[in-house]
Amino acid sequence: MSKEKEYGIETLAIHAGARPDPVTGARTTPIFQSTAFVFDDAERASELFNLQAFGFIYSRLTNPTVAVLEERMAGLENGRGAVASATGHAAQFLLASTLMEAGDEFIASRNLYGGSITQFGVSFAKLGWKCHFVDMTEPENIQAAMTDRVKFIFCENLANPGGVVLDIEKIAVIAHEHGIPLVCDNTLASPYLCRPFDWGCDLIVHSMTKFINGHGNTMGGVVIESGKFDWSQNDKFPSLSKPDEAYHGLTFHETFGDFGFTMKMRAVGLRDFGPSLSAQAAWNILQGVETLPLRMDRHVANALAVAEFLEGHPKVSWVSYSGLKSSPYYDLGKKYFPKGCGSLFTFGCKGGYGAGATVVEKVNLFSHLANLGDTKSLILHPASTTHRQLSEEQLISAGIGPEAIRLSVGIESIQDIIDDLDQALSFA
Ligand SMILES: *Cc1c(COP(=O)(O)O)cnc(C)c1O
Repeated sequence: MSKEKEYGIETLAIHAGARPDPVTGARTTPIFQSTAFVFDDAERASELFNLQAFGFIYSRLTNPTVAVLEERMAGLENGRGAVASATGHAAQFLLASTLMEAGDEFIASRNLYGGSITQFGVSFAKLGWKCHFVDMTEPENIQAAMTDRVKFIFCENLANPGGVVLDIEKIAVIAHEHGIPLVCDNTLASPYLCRPFDWGCDLIVHSMTKFINGHGNTMGGVVIESGKFDWSQNDKFPSLSKPDEAYHGLTFHETFGDFGFTMKMRAVGLRDFGPSLSAQAAWNILQGVETLPLRMDRHVANALAVAEFLEGHPKVSWVSYSGLKSSPYYDLGKKYFPKGCGSLFTFGCKGGYGAGATVVEKVNLFSHLANLGDTKSLILHPASTTHRQLSEEQLISAGIGPEAIRLSVGIESIQDIIDDLDQALSFA
């Protein structure tokens, strides 16, 4: 790729970060299945260890296959640098541990992936990191939860259940007024549908397990840095703005500038906590991401057609898809996701809990499982599975009634998807 030209997202999905292997000419990025990499000489080795030179040392920190995927993701999000990790949750841990000291706090949207609510509310609390969950559909709520120890704001721009679209441009302004970054989990939209850095976000996380890889066969996560946040504007981020004793007093922001956060996450987060992505997993994801734009176009077209079909179905009481005119998030969806509002949404059966459970049992093409963003259409009845422990009241306040069914609409023939739901609903 030429350095001067700005490439389109379809081109970036295939080429960003990669080039033919200079030794063998291999056109596909090789799987560098090697734990460690030979040093040219003793001086080069010590430069690498002191972060005075860039190169490969040990695959917990850097690996050439993983590095291509990191550059691909930074390219797709128009960011400055990226660190890949074993899972999306590992990415969130790396990010939080780089931004916070014990006793610090952060504000998160209450409309998050269920696993993130548990990670933030329960497991992070054990490390002395306090999460304030707020309803970010009213951005003023963020202001009310703000304290001096809040180090970042975390949200999902497109969230389920509820098909909630947040006004991230407004939330970014609030974050910056307080000298803290806005972190966006862009998993459900993918950079093809929305690029949060264009709206003022500072850091992006993805579960690459979902649409990025897209085939339901590999776990991965990534944190991407915009390069625009000034970590030295206040004293809130000592791990970036103050000297690091482990690296002879090196200051990450001063030394590495607009990719200082990426360097810190790698040189300390990956080094000390170790949730690195394997070369094989990175290679699998590199295969998947090449077709991200094609897949997303089909995902959103199919999702809209399914949502419209369900909205007109006599056994369906409601459909919450932000791409439908009936959604309270329709206008925000048009603003942030002009190409389509993703392919995950919930709907309710008039027959209640029993009808919901029947539909997931009667589908043939859909798979009944707890994942999303696969080429295959997936279905889940939260009340009988992921949210089984909740009371009816808790289910409703979480936006998932006992009758709710969640769909991740795949890229099969649209008529087959609709026919399958139609025959399953006939039993409900
Ligand atoms: C799946 C998911 C995660 C967690 O990612 P894992 O790869 O499963 O660890 C985080 N956020 C969202 C929106 C997700 O869908």
